[in-house]
Amino acid sequence: MFLSFGLLPAAHARGLTPQQVAPDVYAFIGKREALAQANRGDIINSGFIVGTTGVIVIDPGPNYAHAELVLAAIRKITPKPVLLVIDTHPHPENVLGNDFFARRGVTILAHTQTQQAMRSRCEMCYENMLKVLGEKIMAGTVIAYPNMTVNENSDMTVAGRELSLLNYGWGHTEGDLVVLDRTSGVLFSGGLVSLASIPVLQQAKIKGWINALKQLQQQPVKKLVPGNGPVSNPERLQETLDYLQSLLDLVERQYNAGMSVLDLLKQAELPAYKKWALYSEQHPLNVQHVYSELEREELEK
Ligand SMILES: [Zn+2]
Repeated sequence: MFLSFGLLPAAHARGLTPQQVAPDVYAFIGKREALAQANRGDIINSGFIVGTTGVIVIDPGPNYAHAELVLAAIRKITPKPVLLVIDTHPHPENVLGNDFFARRGVTILAHTQTQQAMRSRCEMCYENMLKVLGEKIMAGTVIAYPNMTVNENSDMTVAGRELSLLNYGWGHTEGDLVVLDRTSGVLFSGGLVSLASIPVLQQAKIKGWINALKQLQQQPVKKLVPGNGPVSNPERLQETLDYLQSLLDLVERQYNAGMSVLDLLKQAELPAYKKWALYSEQHPLNVQHVYSELEREELEK
């Protein structure tokens, strides 16, 4: 009882503080942690862009309450209406805030593959999220699917702002969409870039991901808002690329030598990344994932 009384005022006092990345471009930096009640699902970066006629939100976050805080933070900066929400990919911590904006008439845009993945996985993801975060944190959260999709690289003007929506195939997920704001040169990478935090490969195709990052390096980016980790120079995209390449090299070498996944797990350390967040939890899962990708690849041959 004492705890619940103690927590109430703190919960009401919560708020999100956006970091200004460029004029009219802001990021919310999530915690580099696994999903937990203590972080309320706030484990990814997101952001918003203020155009001449309205606001574009990139990833509304893990639940209704979070999306509400996103709007409150926007309201401290501009009274302009939110016109568009862009889901960078179908992970629940990115998209379960959709409904908060959808029920206010905001269009929700995603890659076609994100819409499909959400239709097949979102209910399960929602249940998992509910199990970890609990009903109080997830209160009011309803799944809302994107009602506008893009299938290929698209340039569009939204709220007077020129955006490039880029997709380089299946990388972090099947529906990765990267948002490049042409005016500022700020790139919102979604799950494709993770800095100082081990990326999650649960739905990934590692070779596609490496390829996507190499193509992203060709874009005229001035500032990078990664999916996890601090806002940085675009050159730091290389750090995610290096981790993925090291992971692939390690697993591929031992897979080709006939090593079992269990034996591989005993010697799959990548010491250069031990200081990254989630190393002990996520790196072994990534090793297993890449091993099974290679198995599948061989079967399909
Ligand atoms: Zn993700």
